Amino acid sequence: MSESQKPKKILIVGGGTAGWMAANLLAVRWKDVDICLLESSDIGIIGVGEGSTPHLKLFFDQAEIDEAEWMPRCNATYKNGISFVGWSSLPGYESYFHPFPAQTDDIFTVPVFFNNIRARMQGDDVIAHPDPYFLETYITQQNRGPIPEETFPFGVAYGYHFDSGLLGKFLADKAISRGVKRIFGTVTETLMGPGGHVVSVRLDDDSILSADFFIDCSGFKSLLLQGALKIPFKSYRENLFNNAAVVMPTPISEVIPPETKATALSSGWAWKIPLTNRYGNGYVYSVDYLTQEQAEKELRAHLGMLNSDVAARHLQMKVGRVEQHWAKNCLAVGLSQGFIEPLEATALALSFETVSRFIRHFENGSFTTQFQDLFNSEINLKFEGVRDYIVCHYKVNQRADTPYWHDNSANNHLSDNLKKILNLWSGSPDFARDMHANNLVVSYQPKSWACLLAGYGVFPPLKAGAKNSQVGSAQNLDQLADFVRRCGLNFKSHNDQLKKLN
Ligand SMILES: Cc1cc2nc3c(=O)[nH]c(=O)nc-3n(C[C@H](O)[C@H](O)[C@H](O)COP(=O)(O)OP(=O)(O)OC[C@H]3O[C@@H](n4cnc5c(N)ncnc54)[C@H](O)[C@@H]3O)c2cc1C
Repeated sequence: MSESQKPKKILIVGGGTAGWMAANLLAVRWKDVDICLLESSDIGIIGVGEGSTPHLKLFFDQAEIDEAEWMPRCNATYKNGISFVGWSSLPGYESYFHPFPAQTDDIFTVPVFFNNIRARMQGDDVIAHPDPYFLETYITQQNRGPIPEETFPFGVAYGYHFDSGLLGKFLADKAISRGVKRIFGTVTETLMGPGGHVVSVRLDDDSILSADFFIDCSGFKSLLLQGALKIPFKSYRENLFNNAAVVMPTPISEVIPPETKATALSSGWAWKIPLTNRYGNGYVYSVDYLTQEQAEKELRAHLGMLNSDVAARHLQMKVGRVEQHWAKNCLAVGLSQGFIEPLEATALALSFETVSRFIRHFENGSFTTQFQDLFNSEINLKFEGVRDYIVCHYKVNQRADTPYWHDNSANNHLSDNLKKILNLWSGSPDFARDMHANNLVVSYQPKSWACLLAGYGVFPPLKAGAKNSQVGSAQNLDQLADFVRRCGLNFKSHNDQLKKLN
């Protein structure tokens, strides 16, 4: 690998979570590079985004930061997965849990789940709702955290909930302690050189900051990538209707649940995210179906806060992605590269994927653009994979009680991949195998798709006179429940696991 082309100086523009995540990863990996982060004291961070997938744990591992160091400072809690409430009105399918993966599932219980799905698809009366089959669903129902006793031999993936403002501050302190230079100023102009490369940015005090490589973390503005480099934005508006959110906190309960709750409302859905000191709540909706005032009123009613004077915050969301995330000598990370609405809390996962893959490809290409096209197509695929999974939640909704839900289920702007997955669900004798065989496993595993579709009750009617088949016999399920329960004994309460961090 040639070191000669390695950038000597990198300028990160933007000090939100994405900017400081990038700063930490780069500072750990390229200790010899001069890394500066510019943020504006006049333009705030978005200040939402409090749930994660297990990718955030990978980020902290790669950034060499322990849970005991960051979690208490960010009022963070553990997350085993997401409860979906009210997305289907079919009896028995009013809610389901989408767990993060655990090894026990793949080895012992998911095969039974898929057997029962197959039988249910043929009209047999078997239990094919996902909840009984997953260890993390069970421990969540028991309010247990995801860290097993040391003697438990199976891996369990988990994510976090955290205060996004505090996380940004923590990551800033950490990056600065690693030598990242922080500069305050507002970019007024991007200066371009021959070949259309970014050379420097001019600040509001007329000073100029130059670098060899730029990371655009300027949020929805996307100052460098969409602004200066004019990289087109591909909107997901046709696929995903939601474009606004209203957020407000509520007091935390004594028992802190290790899950995000996503409850379907009249024209979108509400999140409930437990931190150690409060719940973060938000209603993600479409302004085509609801005004700001109506959305706020509905959220307040949902939270039992109609008469409360706690202030609500309103936000707009631009949903889609840029066509190239890395162009010329600039990489966009975070909202500047795109955003998919937060139903599965995937934004920071995509930011982490972007930075860690960029480091890999840039190094493998000896710090040239050799792997730029490959990188861009990989990240686009990741975005599309997440988008398809989110779109599916709306497409197969079993409500149709408001125009919003009706229009979502009637929306046929589906990608080819999503159409294929839905066809496999209803037609394939082996859904998981055929998803792999058809290269449809992009951002979510077959078991996640199965949780969603089975969790909503997307099944044909039962056969006339159908009764329990062998695969789903009460005895089998009792054994499985007993196995899951005994595994669950290896996990202490979530509250106790949080206390241990202090
Ligand atoms: C409603 C909602 C809910 C969300 N929920 C989740 C979730 O549960 N999980 C998740 O992972 N993500 C979630 N996200 C996304 C998450 O909030 C963002 O991905 C994350 O906060 C990173 O934002 P950012 O750093 O890209 O941008 P920002 O936080 O907007 O930071 C932008 C930075 O750029 C700087 N800047 C802007 N203009 C200039 C300028 N001219 N000169 C200098 N600096 C400038 C600003 O000062 C700021 O520091 C959610 C987003 C929304 C809208």
